[in-house]
This record gives sequence, C-alpha cells and structure tokens, in this order.
Amino acid sequence: MQFFIAGQWQSRDSVIEVTNPYSGEVIDTVPKATASDVDAAIEFAVRGAEVMAAMPGYDRFVILRKTADMMRQRADDLARTLSSEEGKTLREALFEVDRSAQTMELSAEEAKRLGGEYLPLDGGKGTQGKMGFTMRVPCGIVAAITPFNFPLNLVCHKIGPALAGGNAVVLKPASDTPLSALKLVQILLDAGLPPLAISCITGSGAAIGDAICTDRRVRKISFTGSQEIGERICRIAGLKKVTMELGSNSPLVVLPDADMDKVVQATLASAFSNAGQVCISTQRMIVLDRVHDSVVEALKPKVESLVAGDQLHDASQMGPMIRESDAARVEDWVQEAVGMGAKLVCGGSRNKALMQPTLITNARSDMKVVREELFGPAVAVQRAESVTEAIRMVNDSRYGLSAGVFTRDIDSAMRFAREVHSGNIHINWGPMWRTDLMPYGGLKDSGHGKEGPKYAVQEMTEMKTVVIHTS
Ligand code: NAP
Repeated sequence: MQFFIAGQWQSRDSVIEVTNPYSGEVIDTVPKATASDVDAAIEFAVRGAEVMAAMPGYDRFVILRKTADMMRQRADDLARTLSSEEGKTLREALFEVDRSAQTMELSAEEAKRLGGEYLPLDGGKGTQGKMGFTMRVPCGIVAAITPFNFPLNLVCHKIGPALAGGNAVVLKPASDTPLSALKLVQILLDAGLPPLAISCITGSGAAIGDAICTDRRVRKISFTGSQEIGERICRIAGLKKVTMELGSNSPLVVLPDADMDKVVQATLASAFSNAGQVCISTQRMIVLDRVHDSVVEALKPKVESLVAGDQLHDASQMGPMIRESDAARVEDWVQEAVGMGAKLVCGGSRNKALMQPTLITNARSDMKVVREELFGPAVAVQRAESVTEAIRMVNDSRYGLSAGVFTRDIDSAMRFAREVHSGNIHINWGPMWRTDLMPYGGLKDSGHGKEGPKYAVQEMTEMKTVVIHTS
C-alpha cells in the first residue's frame, strides 16, 4: 500500500515488508518514510488544524459517525487484513473491528459535547461585575504513535477523540502492522474527512520518531507502546501535552473463597487472547496457599487443550506471536525461570513464532517472567500466605496498569481496590477486560493520561478561561 501524506497517496523507492507472522509470507509493502516526509506531513497538517478548528462539532460528528458505519460495512476486509498482519485469529480480528467501530461512534458523540463551565468569579474578593466561563479548544496537531497489538482499535482511540476535538492528526502506526491503519484512513476520507486533516506516515519509529516528537508544530503526542520508547518520547517532547499508554505485568489474585470455575474461565480469556500480547494480559497469578494446588490442577488441562495454529484457520484458538524473535524471547524467559527453580506445568516450547500456551508454578519475583513485561502466552503462578502478602506482591512492580482479584468477600475486594496501585481494578475477573467507553490508563511506569473517547477528548483539547469585565 501507499502512505497518505500531504493530501495524497504516495510511494517511495525504499519500502518496509509486511509479513504474515504465521507463514512468514510477505503480504504487502509500505513506503519507508524519511524525516523530510515527516516535515511535509506536519507542514500540511498546520493548514489541516485550521480547517478542523473551524469545522462545526456537528460536521465532525457526522464524519466520525459515517466512518463507524463504513467500518462495519467493510468489517470482513478489515478483519482479514488485521489477522494477516498481526497474527490474531479471525474471530479476534472481527471482534477488534467491531470495537473499533464503537470507538469511532463514541468519539463522534464527543464531538457534540465539548462544553465548558460557568465560573462564579464574584466569589473572589473584590471581583464584583466579573463573569467568566471556560471553553475547550483543539490542541492543533496531534501526533498519534501506535503499537502492533491492536492495530485498528488503538489507532481509533487516538484518531477518533483527536478529530472529535477539532485537531489534525499525524499518525505513525507500528511498522509490523500498518495496513489496517492505512485502510482506516481511506475510510475516513470516504466518510468526508478533509484530506488536510490526516496523514499516515509509515516508517521505522527509530528513524522518524524524533522528527515527529521534537517538532514544535506538534502540540500533543498520544503514544501507546513500550515503557522504554514512551520514556524516550517524554524526554525529547519538550513543552507538549503527552499521553502515555505503556506496558505492564498484570496480576490476577485468587483468594480461597473464589468461584473456581470463573477463575479458570477468566484466566484462559485474559492470559492467552492475542497470544498474550495484550498490555493487560494476565501474566502473574498470585494464589493463596489454601487453593493454590486446586487452581493449578483445574487450569492445566484447559491450557493444554488450547489450539494454537494458523490464525486464518477456524480451528485455531490462538495465533502466532508478532515475530519469531518475540516467541524466542518468551521461550528463553520461561527456560530461565525453570532454571531458577520454577516448575513447567505445560507448554514452554515454540515452533517459529507460534509459542505454546504455557503455565509455570513456583515463580518468584526475581524471575523475568514475573518482573518484566512478558507480552506472550505464559502465566507464572506464585503463592501467597495472606491477602496482605498478595497485595504486597501485586504492588512489587514498577507497572500499574490493571489488576484482578477473585473473592466473594466485599471487605477483601474493597481493600484490594483501595490498596493496589493500578489504573484499572477488576473484582471477580482477570486484569484483561475493557470496554471502550471507560476511562483506561496506567499508574507508575504504565504511563499517564486516560483513553476512552470521553476522557481522551479532554486530553486532546486545551482549556481557555474567558473573563467578562462588566461595568
Ligand atoms: P513499541 O516497540 O514501543 O512501538 C510502539 C510504536 O512506537 C511503534 O509505532 C514504533 O514504531 C514506535 N517507535 C519506535 N521507536 C520510536 C521512537 N524512537 N520514537 C517514536 N516512536 C517510536 O511497542 P510495540 O512492541 O509495538 O507494542 C507493545 C507495547 O505496547 C507493550 O509494551 C504493550 O504493553 C504496550 N501497549 C500498551 C497499551 C496500553 O493501553 N497501555 C496498549 C497496547 C500496547 P516501529 O514499529 O516502526 O518500531
């Protein structure tokens, strides 16, 4: 495919190959942008920002609403593209397309709701005759940088609220998965978005990231990706607004009074979806001593029976990881843990990028499978003696994106909600659950700022205060 900059679909001699992670087959190529392409895109977006700021909220609503409708009409094509470039199963891809359309729908609504506040200024001493209100205005140019694992919905979580707020957008999708983002741009244009308002630059983040993030014409950066790159962007961004949606090693705690069937169901759903490549995947399970063995026994046959294979085949319940090198890393970390005393319950090996669903016990916090973000289909089980110890173990992490607890005791559940340092807390489900309207974002090294269109649109706009000095 071509990339879309300065109002035109364009090619370059130098390209990036996009491959199917299961077969290794090249499915398409995209241009490899340079810093001068970034400059051209931003220059164009300066005018785009003026056009978008002048566009009435209702018109922005209509474009985004129509985009959602057209995404649904083209769902099969979008899903096949997503599945082929990312490796998620077709079922997972169709689900992502549906969520993405919802994200655009929710964003459309926000275009009509950008309000302000009446300020009772006469409450200040000596302010008689003063009246005031606030209003929200677009940031101008929003740079959206997105990861590979939800190549469509995470793009929608940035583009939707940015356009709803009246901004122009420069999008840089992940190099492994740029195709669905480019197809989304075509849909936006077909839905009536002025070409000035959007660019989609494909190219290596390492090569063009600085040109995007240091440019003073960009007023807002919304980044989803790894903690290392996020921190680098924060260091170089200068005086811009930034939203950082970063990684985690999310925990699931099981207390003795848990509904065990639901624990098994939630673990399977929250640890192995998208081959464990979800920022809120269950990576650590912390199980109280009394039920530890029965939880592991119940999980083992279910994890073993998960069918991993070609993501485009109906029978596959889990597809490959994005790259063979990532599957090799997960395999290494599991082997390292076993070498340090962990017990392999099932899985642990791979065929190229296809990592077997894996369960290990006797895990400890000095093992990489517990301490670092694993981002793969493996769960490391640890024991705890008490709720206090379990909460301490949960918080013994630099990350804080999402955490789950299973208990029927309201006091334990509320204690977990209060004391766990995490942006999302789930009671009686795993950490991996999200509906797109809710506020979503991490604490600590998992980032700052919230997504969910109602919240993201606040981050994509600035507040002005207006004071009327009546006589
Ligand atoms: P990544 O390697 O950090 O890449 C994310 C994006 O940043 C890609 O578009 C990448 O481009 C770009 N990039 C790379 N170097 C850059 C630089 N120097 N300056 C600017 N941009 C640069 O992450 P990933 O492997 O794609 O995604 C996995 C990570 O995302 C995990 O850590 C996961 O937890 C996190 N994530 C977080 C959330 C959340 O909501 N909190 C959601 C999903 C994923 P290239 O592809 O060209 O390198």
